[in-house]
Amino acid sequence: MIIIDGSEGEGGGQVVRNSCALSLVTGQPFRIVNARGKREKPGLMRQHVTSIEAACRIGGADCEGLAVGASEFTFLPGKVAAGDYHFAVGTAGSTGLVLQTILVPLMLAEGPSRVVLEGGTHNMLAPPFDFIERTFLPIVNRMGPRVEARLVRHGFYPRGGGRIEVEITPAPLRRIDCLDRGAPLGLSGTARFAGLPFDIAQREIKVARKELGWAEDAFAVRQLPEDQGPGNILLLEAVFEHVTEIVSGFGQLGVPAERLAAKAAGRMQGYLESAAFAGPYLQDQLLLPFALAGGGVFTTVKPSQHSLTAADIIERFLEIRTVFTQRDDGSHLVTMGSG
Ligand code: AMP
Repeated sequence: MIIIDGSEGEGGGQVVRNSCALSLVTGQPFRIVNARGKREKPGLMRQHVTSIEAACRIGGADCEGLAVGASEFTFLPGKVAAGDYHFAVGTAGSTGLVLQTILVPLMLAEGPSRVVLEGGTHNMLAPPFDFIERTFLPIVNRMGPRVEARLVRHGFYPRGGGRIEVEITPAPLRRIDCLDRGAPLGLSGTARFAGLPFDIAQREIKVARKELGWAEDAFAVRQLPEDQGPGNILLLEAVFEHVTEIVSGFGQLGVPAERLAAKAAGRMQGYLESAAFAGPYLQDQLLLPFALAGGGVFTTVKPSQHSLTAADIIERFLEIRTVFTQRDDGSHLVTMGSG
């Protein structure tokens, strides 16, 4: 039995999600103690319980000790079954994070699957739908499987109520190298809002435009149906030949639109000034599929605590080592392999 101390390294929910995915794919049971031990409110929250329940459903697994607030549980994997699944995160918990738990096992299952997820689609501290669709999935699709995701309805914190649908056609994961972004193809920024004053979106665009210096017609405001709100997100998108980076500014009560936009613009500027393929979030999310492909190489920005921890968890389940090396141009090389 693999024992994982959930307070080590990054100490958050990703340790739980990656462990479930790796356990389902490798068939190795694990036990987590001190789950989410580095978070302000440690223990499993509703959305982590939903993720583990989803892993149990698709993988015929058993989980002992599973409850909201639990800091220890044991996960006993079964056999992953392709099929039609529907998971609702009871609160506005992130649908993207539930998908992060079950996607890779379903990509390696014996037949195609369709997954409907309900809850939050654009949550802070989680990959928003657009990031999954246009940043993460195109890379996974280059590795063999075919995954298509559709946003049916936005769900924002605290109301939730969003819906995404995902079609998965499995295939063995192929090793790929992602060193260069390729030629720049376009820059855009969109402020989406629902059930909130229009000027919030306008103020975000104004600041983002000033900070980034992008053309006026690169920006747009999109009003969503009132009943999908209240909610607001600023999405800044840089499309390159081989990768798309999406930086999000999540509207939050008490955070001025200007501040949110300036911060998002600063992050995008940081990515554009680097030569890296993967931004800070794609970086940790690529490790799991790359590891299951037997390795691979990609360039990225400074390694995050999430990535270092994900690499450690991967080593507990697989004979795959991850090496981070800084390059002369300031970007970092992530090399994964069995050596
Ligand atoms: P954790 O904090 O352990 O629950 O993990 C959060 C996960 O969400 C990580 O895989 C992050 O890469 C991802 N994530 C957080 N914020 C964003 C964002 N703004 N865009 C894309 N992915 C994100």
